[in-house]
Order: sequence, then structure tokens, then C-alpha cells
Amino acid sequence: MSAEFEHRDIQLIAARHGKAVRLAKGEAVQVLNLHGTQVVDCWAYNADDVSEYMCMEATRVWNQRLNPQVGDSFITSQRHPILTLVADTSPGVHDTFMAACDARRYELLGCTEPHRNCHDNLFEGMAELGVKLPHGNLASFNIFMNIQVQPDGRTLKTLPVVTRPGDYIILRAEMDCYVAFSACPQDIVSIQGQGDNTPRDAELRILTSGFPQVKLQGAWVPEEV
Ligand SMILES: [Zn+2]
Repeated sequence: MSAEFEHRDIQLIAARHGKAVRLAKGEAVQVLNLHGTQVVDCWAYNADDVSEYMCMEATRVWNQRLNPQVGDSFITSQRHPILTLVADTSPGVHDTFMAACDARRYELLGCTEPHRNCHDNLFEGMAELGVKLPHGNLASFNIFMNIQVQPDGRTLKTLPVVTRPGDYIILRAEMDCYVAFSACPQDIVSIQGQGDNTPRDAELRILTSGFPQVKLQGAWVPEEV
């Protein structure tokens, strides 16, 4: 189904739930879309100081791209690279614009009962590792999420995942870090792929070696500075 790389751990990201891992610099995490239908929200934090977090705004500046492609890095709130996308067997459709779902989002969608959500999953996953985050963070990297910029250049369209079963991405750690994931529980807005919009399991593997490597790119600066 997918290439095997040397790994020290395999964990399920259960449908509608979160999972976090700690990576040493130079290790990587492979995120597999087992069913090919699932959006997986992702956050990362400096393991030595969790007030420094992976920041989508700083990432877009660094790469000069709306959404990352292989070779691009994710940048922290202190403007240090924290993760680099080193492999992607999916069609390359991911999202950095949309806020993670949270309890309030489901209220706004008409839910009258509590609904599992990515933002709580972030805190649950980190708590399993004994880490308490200093504040919330709605700005996730939404792996496999299909948000299409329309031809007018500013309107966004929310569409279902276009990934195939077994597609994966690999994120290399550029510092010791925590990386948290949520198999997005969204089942109202149609974002999970292939029709029925049912959240499903994904899988992560912590890779130690043998995975593709790319050179770390520096920050973008204008050519004529
Ligand atoms: Zn979500």
C-alpha cells in the first residue's frame, strides 16, 4: 500500500480523535490516509518551549505559497523552521487557511449536543503526553483538506478530500518538537471524501531513517533587497 520506511512507532489516529507525538530533530512523521477520505488537522510546538508554535501566517511568508508543496517548511511563531514536507504521494491538496473546528463551530452549524472537534482533540492529544498548552490555536495545517481558491483569486470553496487510500505525507522535524493530529470529526460540512462524509481512522508512523530528504530552504526575501 505504501512505502515502508524505518520507524520506531506506529499509532492510529482514531476517527474523531486526536493523537500527539514527540519527535527528535531529524526524525519524521508519516501521516497515512488509510481510507483516502479523511482530513487530518496538524499542529506543532517547540518541545523546549511550547509557547513557540507552528504558525500558518509565518509559513506562507517563508514559502510565498498558499499551501505547501514538497520542499517547503513550516515556520513557528518565532520564525524558525519546525517541520519540512519531504514527501507527498497524495495529489498535493492541503489547506492552511481554514480554522480547526471547535465546539463553537458546531454550535454555529446547528448542533444542540456537544460534538467532538479538532481543537479539543489537540488538547487531548497533548495532555496524553503530559503537556499543557498555554493557549488555544485554531490555525492548524489541514492535511488532505480540499479548499479551492476560485478564479477570482479571493473566494474559497470547501470541497471533499481527493486523496486515494494509502496516500501519505512525511513531515521532517527541524527541531525537537511535539506534533499533534486530529482525525477531523466534521460530518456536517462535506469535507471527508467519497460521498458519505464519515470521519475515519488515519495512521501515523514515526520514521527514524530511510525516508526522502530535501534541503532546508531559507526564508523568502525579495530579489532586489
Ligand atoms: Zn476538524
